[in-house]
Amino acid sequence: MNVHEYQAKELLAKFGVAIPAGHAALTVEEAVAAAKQLPGPLYVVKSQIHAGGRGKGKFKELPADAKGGVRLAFNLDEVESHAKEMLGNTLVTIQTGEAGKQVNRLYVTDGVDIAHEYYLSLVVDRKSSRVSFIVSTEGGMDIEDVAHNTPEKISTISIDPASGFQPHHGRAIAFALKLKGDTNKQAQVLGKQLYDAFVALDCDMLEINPLVEDKSGNLLVLDTKMSFDSNALFRHPEVMALRDETEEDPAELEASKYDLAYIKLDGNIGCMVNGAGLAMATMDIIKLNGAFPANFLDVGGGATTEKVTAAFKIILSDPAVEGILVNIFGGIMKCDVIAAGIIEAAKEVSLSVPLVVRLEGTNVEAGKELLNNSGLPIVAANDLGDAAVKIVAEVNKAKA
Ligand code: GDP
Ligand code: MG
Repeated sequence: MNVHEYQAKELLAKFGVAIPAGHAALTVEEAVAAAKQLPGPLYVVKSQIHAGGRGKGKFKELPADAKGGVRLAFNLDEVESHAKEMLGNTLVTIQTGEAGKQVNRLYVTDGVDIAHEYYLSLVVDRKSSRVSFIVSTEGGMDIEDVAHNTPEKISTISIDPASGFQPHHGRAIAFALKLKGDTNKQAQVLGKQLYDAFVALDCDMLEINPLVEDKSGNLLVLDTKMSFDSNALFRHPEVMALRDETEEDPAELEASKYDLAYIKLDGNIGCMVNGAGLAMATMDIIKLNGAFPANFLDVGGGATTEKVTAAFKIILSDPAVEGILVNIFGGIMKCDVIAAGIIEAAKEVSLSVPLVVRLEGTNVEAGKELLNNSGLPIVAANDLGDAAVKIVAEVNKAKA
């Protein structure tokens, strides 16, 4: 789960992290009121969307030469005009995709006089199986280019979970950032605060870009992206309360209501499978046969007809889906429940794409009979390989 920048900063502030003062705003009036509470004369008006690259982003509704989604304002009038141009409009950044994201919230912050922009993030590093800091002296809006063109300017510092964050980790971070004197000390303290926040809040990722040094040598967190391990959210009701459903993919949101493990992908074959391993294998075999999966979907072991119906509708709500492959191995899950769900859903939404079903296991005969008597144009398959070949052939046939 992701949160907005202002929410992430509020969470970090509780761990002592230094952030510029700021207030969230939902309207132009609130944005101006927020600025009035800040010392000025420099303000920053920041679009709050769950995507980065806002500074270099473009608003769909504004002329191409208009400013991006993060703007400096030198007085209250400018705060007002920026807020007017941003709220309700669609911001397209390198991370949003072409569709962009509508800006419904702003964050108005105290403007910082920046001397240097650094990069610092924490991730769960698969290679070392540890939480690692990734730091660079070259922070700011072009960190992707730095990673691509000059990877030697990026350092990684891994934390052994047995020892936790030690003072030498802090020194390594400050050294990698080439900081001197008091700023160096601040970086060491910040490293510990961020590590504590990362572990305590069960983060997946915490990115500070930029971390800035102001003209007086103070380190400040200017931008934050934070995401959380969904499996640990039950431990953090205060984080769960920050969820902004308007930022989520509508299909994934709907799936989460039914406790379905659904992830939208960009292929053309919708898949409904039980068990994550079988779902992965199904996606692989679709690719092996020259097509691409439109989604990952594990309906789980204890699915009801209602859940299967919802799953089926979610798959069909994706306009890219040209065919559906249902692959169920009924262990705990019963094949007749799946069959009933498919029939129910197909009745509710007019099934306009080919459907291949492979059923095996508990109550398979009852399930097959239900499908055969349903009057639906279902292609039966004997095993996984057969199912994949058939769905790809059916989709190609429908296209021809
Ligand atoms: P992003 O584009 O979504 O990553 O948004 P950021 O919050 O990182 O802002 C983009 C850029 O705006 C930063 O890299 C800074 O160069 C600039 N910026 C943001 N806040 C301030 C500020 O307080 N003062 C100044 N001078 N520039 C800022
Ligand atoms: Mg940034």
